[in-house]
Amino acid sequence: QNVLLKVENLKKHFPVKGGIFGNKTLQHVKAVDGVSFEVMEGETFGIVGESGCGKSTTGRTILRLLEPTEGNIYFQGRNLAELNNSEMRTLRKDIQIVFQDPFASLNPRMRVRDIIEEPLINFGVADRKERERRLLEVADQVGLTPAQLTRFPHEFSGGQRQRIGIARALISKPKLIIADEPVSALDVSIQSQVLNLMRDLQKELGLTYIFISHDLSVVKHFCDRIGVMYLGKMVEIAEKNRLYDKPMHPYAEALLSALPSPHPLKKKKRIILKGDVPSPSNPPSGCTFHPRCASCMDVCTTDQPTLQAVEDQHAVSCHLYTEAGKKSVAAGEPV
Ligand code: SF4
Ligand code: MG
Repeated sequence: QNVLLKVENLKKHFPVKGGIFGNKTLQHVKAVDGVSFEVMEGETFGIVGESGCGKSTTGRTILRLLEPTEGNIYFQGRNLAELNNSEMRTLRKDIQIVFQDPFASLNPRMRVRDIIEEPLINFGVADRKERERRLLEVADQVGLTPAQLTRFPHEFSGGQRQRIGIARALISKPKLIIADEPVSALDVSIQSQVLNLMRDLQKELGLTYIFISHDLSVVKHFCDRIGVMYLGKMVEIAEKNRLYDKPMHPYAEALLSALPSPHPLKKKKRIILKGDVPSPSNPPSGCTFHPRCASCMDVCTTDQPTLQAVEDQHAVSCHLYTEAGKKSVAAGEPV
């Protein structure tokens, strides 16, 4: 399988004015703080985590809606930072986004046909016949009739509006679609319709997805591999079943313990984490999860663990699996 996208030590820090009474010290919110992962052609890579963990910012930085503070993004082996303008335009066709809220992302005063067609105009497709042909093609692919195309967004239900959002993303024939909470605003009964549509389109068009969600059940159902984010970092990446059967990072374990157990005889205990997620402008030292971790060792408070493969298709960033961590336990250091 080919690597379609490679993200290497990606950082996105936002400057904020810190202090009070006009104190000019600049602080940074480390929204994304050293994230690395690969996405294979044709797969669905899920990014999960609680709100504020940096998953949307990761998506937006890959789309170049935000400039990365540091790190590299490779698409089909090409470093995005080194593309010239015309290559950048091609790239923008290749990577598209589907947003969470179809209400907010669709212009209410535009007819649906113009909304869906707009990207082609932006990409400089001057031929009207060609645009019309593509419009009807994608409308058909997402299940919208030609008659519906003359209407306005408010005339559609939430699920239909998300079909419009998907059609708009598809019209430039992208290879990668970043879907940021695409079904979170929809009723559960409508969610599966939209997910089934996305899955059918993936098969039909050979699409690759990055699927960003806080909803662990949806991610489990829809993704092939999953990365778990906490405070701007990827703490665990694994093939879906491995992650759900055997999470290795204590945060991932706690997060997943909230899901109902698929094996009624193997009842899981729900792990309640102590404290709140710390501020990303002043993250804890060492492992940023350490103030909340029941397995915290001495080394965790000082040394930041890095994401490393522990098994095939399973990488984790935690001292429970590092040499330093093993020594820390063996030395009997106080917890
Ligand atoms: Fe817990 Fe230490 Fe692992 Fe962090 S590195 S998750 S504190 S055991
Ligand atoms: Mg978000």
